[in-house]
This record gives sequence, C-alpha cells and structure tokens, in this order.
Amino acid sequence: AHHFLARAKEHASLGAFLAQDEAVTLAQARAADARLARGDASPLLGVPVAHKDVFVTADFSTTAGSRMLQGYRSPFESTVTRKLSDSGMVCLGKLNCDEFAMGSANETSAYGQVRNPWDTTRVPGGSSGGSAAALAARLTPAATGTDTGGSIRQPSSFCNLTGIKPTYGRASRFGLIAYASSLDQAGPMARTAEDCALLLSALCGPDLDRDSTSLDVPAEDFSRALNDRLDGLRIGVPKEFISDGLAPDVRAAVDAALAELQKLGARLVEISLPRTELSIPVYYILSPAEASSNLARFDGVTFGHRAKDYTDLEDMYKKTRGEGFGDEVKRRIMTGTYVLSHGYYDAYYLQAQKVRRMIADDLQRAFQQCDVIAGPVAPTVARCIGECADDPLADYLADIYTLSASLAGLPAMSVPAGFGAHGMPVGLQLIGNYLQESKLLNVAHQLQ
Ligand code: GLN
Repeated sequence: AHHFLARAKEHASLGAFLAQDEAVTLAQARAADARLARGDASPLLGVPVAHKDVFVTADFSTTAGSRMLQGYRSPFESTVTRKLSDSGMVCLGKLNCDEFAMGSANETSAYGQVRNPWDTTRVPGGSSGGSAAALAARLTPAATGTDTGGSIRQPSSFCNLTGIKPTYGRASRFGLIAYASSLDQAGPMARTAEDCALLLSALCGPDLDRDSTSLDVPAEDFSRALNDRLDGLRIGVPKEFISDGLAPDVRAAVDAALAELQKLGARLVEISLPRTELSIPVYYILSPAEASSNLARFDGVTFGHRAKDYTDLEDMYKKTRGEGFGDEVKRRIMTGTYVLSHGYYDAYYLQAQKVRRMIADDLQRAFQQCDVIAGPVAPTVARCIGECADDPLADYLADIYTLSASLAGLPAMSVPAGFGAHGMPVGLQLIGNYLQESKLLNVAHQLQ
C-alpha cells in the first residue's frame, strides 16, 4: 500500500485520483495483515484496489465526477466495494470519471481532465478514465469501473488493459450512483484476464434485497475455465463491425488478434448484426431518458450542492441544478425529458425500446452460429484531449461497437490486441451470451 500511495503522489498530474486517505488505506492494510497472520488465504487478501467515484463509500467522499456532489460522504457502502473489501482488498481511494459516467474521454468531469499514461496529450477514454489511467500508470493493480454503453471496455482498450462488464444483473447496483439503470453494470479492470476473473468472482453475486434487478444466480469461480483449449470454438465476427468507419490501424491489430485465436484452434465465422448502426440512436434516447429521471433527485434538498441565493423553492431548484451540473449532463437531462414528454414518448422512447429488443434478438440469432463474438472496441485509438470539444456527436458515434452488448445486457470485455497509430493501444472486444463470462475470460487469457 505504501508503494502505491507514493506512486499516486508522484503521478498526480495524470488526474486519476479524486480522493485518497493514507490513514484509512494503511488501517485496511494492517487489518489484511492480521487476517493473513490468522492463516486466511483468500486470493485478494491485502491486494490494493481503487474505485471509480460512482460507487458510494463510507470511508472516502463520493462525487460521481460532479460539482453537485462535491465533498459528499455516503452514510453507507455500495455492495460491490463492500464485497471487495470483505475479500480483504485494501482501498487506495476514489478515481476520476466523467460526470455521472456520461462521456467517452473523461472530459466531462468537474474535477479536471484525466491523461492517458501512454501519451499524456491524449484521453484515457471514458467514462472510467481514472480507473484506466491509474492502472496503466501502475498506481493500482486493480480497479473497479462501470459500463453503461462501453465505459469499462473503451478505456481498457485505450490504455492496454483488460476489463469486463458482466451480464446485466450479475453485479449489484446497490450504492452505484445511477446513470441509466437498465444498462448500468459494474465490473473489474486490471492488467490481465486472470486478475479480472479473481475480481469478478469477488464482486458478483445476488443482492436481491437491495437491487431489484440483481440476478438470482450464485457467484461462480470465473478462474476455472481460463486454461481451457480453444479448439473448435466458433468466433463470430460481425461484418458490420469491420466497416468503413474502422481505422486501418485498429483493423490491423484486431485482425492480428483474430489470426492468433485461429492459431489457438478457434474457427472464425462471419456473422451479421444488421441493426448495429441503430444502437447509437437507441442508446442516446434510452440512456438520457433514464438519466433525466435518475438525476431528478439532485434538487438541493436532501444532499449535495445547494445554491446560495434564491428567492423561492423553484428558484432554488433552478439555481442548484444550473450550478451543480455540467454541460453534458444538462444536454442529456434535456434530451431525456424531451423524449419522455407527452406527444414524443411514442415516437422516440417507445420506438427505441422496440428497436432495443430487436437488437437483443439479432444477438441471440448470432449466437446460434457462434460461441463468442469478437471485433473492435472503438473505431480509433485514443484521440487527443480537446479534439471533440465542440462536437459531442463525434464521441457518441464512436460508441458504435460497444452499445449493442449493453442494450442486450450481455457480458462483454476488452483485451489488449496490440498497438495502432501513434503507438497507442488497441483492444479486442469479446461479447458472450448471457452468463458466459468464463468463456470470454478463457479466450482473453489464451490470447495473453
Ligand atoms: N460513452 C458512453 C456515454 O457517453 C458510455 C458511457 C458509459 O458507459 N458510462 O454515455
């Protein structure tokens, strides 16, 4: 823990950490030492971890990257962070992220830009960008992230890491500050599939009393299939993922990883996910709709920021929300309110729900032809900081390969696939059918 605390200080300019408390971390490390001395052999005992700042934690402040929650201290602990601490992990602190997990570059955080350790003029990805930067710079050996539309996979891809978003419902959303509840899912980010498997086994599991969408399936040992052979495994490559928008350098790295999988005995099959392009409008209707509802609670009354000067209650709401939320969050609240409003609900929200179902059905059809789906995570390597400042749409469009799995609630991960333009990392995306995390981790581990 001492080593990692010192490294975090040394590399503070990356902007990865939002909250650290040496005394808390060292007390947890001593408690882990005591467990070890009693003969406890839990695999994660004493291993440091840092959490994306959207998980509420009792020992550290939680901001969700927003001014709205500046200095907020939760009275309780999220299930995911509690489970990791129960397994003996030592918390190094909280990690920067896009405001309320809305973004792809960590540029929407109210607490400053996170830099990509591979090239500090570039973004680390988002919204779990602090998690990715901290791991890539070795400020922590393990981190949590959340993925609503790609926020574990894309930063993992941009920073040469392994990250997995489990099947929707595997990880409890209790204490996870909500962005879009029907899509939000927590997961681990680390250097290898083996590390992710250990972390995933510890953080998943039913939490039926606290999260109504928690799956009633027991946590499993996700490490058990890591060394299975890939002979005969059918890997589906969606032709829509290898499209014109895919940069040649990313395509080359993805092709090389697929060729490697073939050498390991897997068979590549071309599949089709015909509604891939529709995943963007569907996601950018449904997720703002849910966000507009979830973020209604930030009204200056129960917790968080409250404006100083106001004339009456309505003025207090307006000023509080005007000051507390950043531009991207406001944009999504307005979009969400619009698509849910009377007269537009049927045309946008309901229609998007129908197409969401069709996208999930397309994926089920694809899984009749293959065991695992593989393709790129993002169309390009990490872009330069500020490059899309006046063009939020450009970042939305770059979510094209990650959104389908999110909309369907399927497990998906990113595993390092090599390097592309400017020497920047490229990830290979693996998508599995429901509850097939072990299969994904197996394929990823064989590549490593
Ligand atoms: N980039 C996507 C967005 O901006 C995904 C975010 C996420 O998964 N939290 O919404």
